[in-house]
Amino acid sequence: MSVKRGNDFLSVPGPTNIPYQILNAMNRPAIDFSGPEFIATSKACLSDVRRLFRTESMVFVYSANGHGAWEAALSNTLSPGDKALVPQTGNFSASWQDMAEALGIIIEITENDWRHAIDPELVRERLAADTNHEIKAVLMVHTDTATSVTSDIPAMRAAMDAAKHPALLVVDTIASLGTVEFRMDDWGVDVAIAASQKGLMMPPGLGLVAASPKALKASENTTMPRRYWDWISRMDTQHYRAFCGTAPEHMIFGLCESIRMLDEETMEGAFARHARLAEAVRRAVGVWAEGSDGAIELNALVPAERANSVTTIRFGEGIDGIRFRETVRERFQVSLGGGLGMMFGKAFRIGHMGNLNEPMVLATLSAAEASLGICGIPHGRGGILAAMDWFAETSGGPVEVQR
Ligand SMILES: *Cc1c(COP(=O)(O)O)cnc(C)c1O
Repeated sequence: MSVKRGNDFLSVPGPTNIPYQILNAMNRPAIDFSGPEFIATSKACLSDVRRLFRTESMVFVYSANGHGAWEAALSNTLSPGDKALVPQTGNFSASWQDMAEALGIIIEITENDWRHAIDPELVRERLAADTNHEIKAVLMVHTDTATSVTSDIPAMRAAMDAAKHPALLVVDTIASLGTVEFRMDDWGVDVAIAASQKGLMMPPGLGLVAASPKALKASENTTMPRRYWDWISRMDTQHYRAFCGTAPEHMIFGLCESIRMLDEETMEGAFARHARLAEAVRRAVGVWAEGSDGAIELNALVPAERANSVTTIRFGEGIDGIRFRETVRERFQVSLGGGLGMMFGKAFRIGHMGNLNEPMVLATLSAAEASLGICGIPHGRGGILAAMDWFAETSGGPVEVQR
């Protein structure tokens, strides 16, 4: 392998680029986790983090990745033998379903082609048919990172209400929190799950689970064996129990800084930035697709369902998606996501979430467009120009210089 110089570009949909502000906040010695400084910092952080979810209720923070947060949510809200409904969205709903089944939960699904958002009408029908209320929870992925499709949470809530069904609404916001609107309390979400390494711009290693009063109440009667994940013991008045042992101090320092940065930008500002960066990616892909004779296509078929945080691009028959991705990485030092599940080897994904700006997106698109040429993949040229034009059009115009 040749020596590399300059920046490596991390354009996978997690982990994402960590800003220096967060790295610097974490760059310090450990402190006494039972001392007053850490307790004050941690209490403030656990309270402030609720803003990101738009909830007044509780947020639990685990030393874990997103899978850990999934297990935390399942093990507190369900008992072995309980039924849950998983509206399929893609590879992430399938993996979450696998985990639930491994824990002894009986899963029903609604079908999906991995190219559209959840159809709330299918959910309403299924819940309305469950007259004995055996289904205890609906496990919904907000943005499926494999398909880059975002589903409509208020529509899901409305479907559950229309069926007059008391199931908990449990939402995986791992790939969406901080990149697109999410309002836990206003939207009637009972449990929301997030992880540190995506829109929150942090290193991997923290799982966050927000729980509504209804979910907390349900957890008092569930019998899934659990200790580390257990909400009730984490709400003990002795603060160290909030982490079931030594607190992940440095991750908490990082989380405080992540919250500060999102406050500084405002959540709405972060959503708008992500929407604009995502649109540049889609415009570039649109140009590649147009001249590709079917070799290149956006996976998400409905424009309004396309994610702010990640874009999945499908290749036609006979194109080697793995070779393409390796080419982009080895020739240009740009890492892209691969196709997952049924799209393995047949798609690539551009992550555009977290600490990201226009030139970073343009660099990634240039490397991808050049690599389409290198690999002989048919494509329309000038995707990068379309992205540039979009950025120019929406830049706010020339800067007024004070002379
Ligand atoms: C990344 C991701 C996960 C898994 O998170 P890990 O930290 O890799 O365990 C789950 N759901 C969604 C939607 C994700 O994007």
